[in-house]
Amino acid sequence: MKAEIIAVGTELLLGQIVNTNAQAISQKLAELGIDVYFQTVVGDNAARLRQAIEIGRSRADLLLFTGGLGPTQDDLTKDVLADYLNRKLILHEPSMKTIEELFTSRGMAMVESNRRQALMIEGSEALHNATGLAVGNALKADGTLYMLLPGPPKEMKPMLEGPGQEWLRSMLGDEKPLFSRLLKFAGIGESNLEAKLLDLIDGQHDPTIAPYAKEGEVSIRVSTKAANAEEANAKIDATVDLIRARVGEHLYAQEDIPIEEQIVKLLRRSRRRLASAESISGGLFAELVTNVPGSSGEFAGGVVTYTNAMKNKLLGIPMSQLEGPDAPGAISESTAKLMAENVRLIADADFGVSLTGVAGPAEAEGKPVGLVYFAIAEKGKETVVHTATLSGGRSIIRLRAVKAAMYRLWQALKE
Ligand code: ATP
Ligand code: MG
Repeated sequence: MKAEIIAVGTELLLGQIVNTNAQAISQKLAELGIDVYFQTVVGDNAARLRQAIEIGRSRADLLLFTGGLGPTQDDLTKDVLADYLNRKLILHEPSMKTIEELFTSRGMAMVESNRRQALMIEGSEALHNATGLAVGNALKADGTLYMLLPGPPKEMKPMLEGPGQEWLRSMLGDEKPLFSRLLKFAGIGESNLEAKLLDLIDGQHDPTIAPYAKEGEVSIRVSTKAANAEEANAKIDATVDLIRARVGEHLYAQEDIPIEEQIVKLLRRSRRRLASAESISGGLFAELVTNVPGSSGEFAGGVVTYTNAMKNKLLGIPMSQLEGPDAPGAISESTAKLMAENVRLIADADFGVSLTGVAGPAEAEGKPVGLVYFAIAEKGKETVVHTATLSGGRSIIRLRAVKAAMYRLWQALKE
């Protein structure tokens, strides 16, 4: 089924409000397996709204309107569509009753224009408004489906989520619903991941494979239309196996969670604890880990040691290691190793993670911007130090450094 979203409101065209409803509706329709081909915005103008309906009808099976269901004269959506379809507007009694009751309970006189909110297009189904007054409408006319939702997001969303969705599902009939699974990757960039899967992405039509990226994260959505979850899972599993065979060492979750959440889960499962010693990342590692609800059982704590004096006092790193003509310096493999090992011992934890490096904009200790050392110290094992050369601005380098360290920690935990 092809859909078009028509957001109605001059405020949208003037840039006074952002069309967040289009995003929310698109997401919902994608979930239902309905393809959105166009998003239109039109002002509170009868002639142009009529034009939008005409164009929409010619290229979509479902027109989904948002906005213009209110009581005022500029709220035209129902009037214009009724007129276009040569249908009357009739009063929806239950909605009218609710409106009257509300005014009575507030001791206010109802204004005649409030009746407009209880109107519906003849032959349509009323969509209950649980958080407002204007009743929604859904109807099929001449083979096209129409749904009218209010503009305020706090009214639009519950209506779409509740009666709207129910109506759409009934109209989908035997068209199979869409199922999808999000795969989350770490330790690999978007372009690299795409390159490794390119033939799969291009060749695969069912399930489809679509990559997504946001800063510090890469994911892939695998989607398929199926009669039920069981059938969908079998198809998706087969595709995941193909992906895993190529980039399995980067696939850390098959649900939408950040890597720190997976780390906390693995620590919990194996009853182990973590501590961190950070320089370059200024506490970001600890911030992200403690963002995971209930991480106090798995995260002992962390220190932010920015100066050499603090690295010495809090972590016991010898000054001779940090300063002097022959010293390796704070930004070095051996300092990263000591930081991770010492914080692990101080916290009596199973894992110690450290991060030291140059976030920029200026170089430090004669070392270039983006150079990062991070170490994973594990009880009873040899400490592993990793080096990375990261690009981006200061905050991006810090985030990438933390995510890179998390990737290595996750690998250590998996074993
Ligand atoms: P009301 O009964 O409040 O008049 P309505 O259904 O007539 O509701 P509009 O008058 O078009 O809707 O918009 C009311 C308010 O809803 C806007 O001022 C805006 O805050 C919000 N709104 C409308 N359309 C959108 C949209 N597409 N995205 C986000 N917010 C919207
Ligand atoms: Mg309005």
